[in-house]
Amino acid sequence: MRVLVLSDIHANITALEAVLAHADAIDAAWCLGDLIGYGPDPNECVARIRQLPKLSCILGNHDAAALQQIDDETFNPEARTAIHWTRRAISEDTVAFLNALPETIELDQVTLSHGSPRHPIWEYLLDVRTATLSFEYFNTFYCFVGHTHLPVLYLMPDDGQYARLVIPEPEKKIELQPRAILNPGSIGQPRDRDPRASYAIYDPDASTWEVRRVVYDIRAVQERMTQAGLPARHIQRLSAGW
Ligand code: ZN
Repeated sequence: MRVLVLSDIHANITALEAVLAHADAIDAAWCLGDLIGYGPDPNECVARIRQLPKLSCILGNHDAAALQQIDDETFNPEARTAIHWTRRAISEDTVAFLNALPETIELDQVTLSHGSPRHPIWEYLLDVRTATLSFEYFNTFYCFVGHTHLPVLYLMPDDGQYARLVIPEPEKKIELQPRAILNPGSIGQPRDRDPRASYAIYDPDASTWEVRRVVYDIRAVQERMTQAGLPARHIQRLSAGW
């Protein structure tokens, strides 16, 4: 079984389409939130994600901000400008879909949370200490997270003392042992200095995880962002991957 794990699409339909073409046949799609925010194509991305087979999808902080569920004062000024643009751009259909998304989903062996299992919308898992604490907050073998836009794994050894950070090599299958926290990276705005869209294929039968990277037409997205009047820094960062 091939599960497409996608996160932080950030209203970038060009990157999303490139990922879907690259991923080939999939049996299910698990989306870890931040479908919108930053990018120029919020409605297109939501419509495309809704068509994916056996979709499980959770809410991200940018989705919640666009829905006015959280205060935009917590974002920096440029992110706030993008949120205000997004609020004006999203259709009723998009709002209705995002409004119905849960903060976490527990599947057979996997918990889905945007930020962390402890604080699903907000917490960033950026270090081993925070990741180690997070293992107390989910009961499944694995927890899939997004939010940092960095493809990483935190593996918990049998002694359960400290999680171990692993940066996965793209296009290389990793055999998983319970338990682990896994981040597929970001489709629409990678931040590991590699501008290619990042996603993962999870095979629950074989217990494997593979992070994959795909080139897409960044310039086309930047042109649409310029036309939309979105912040210059968000336009520039796409080509540098940060
Ligand atoms: Zn994000």
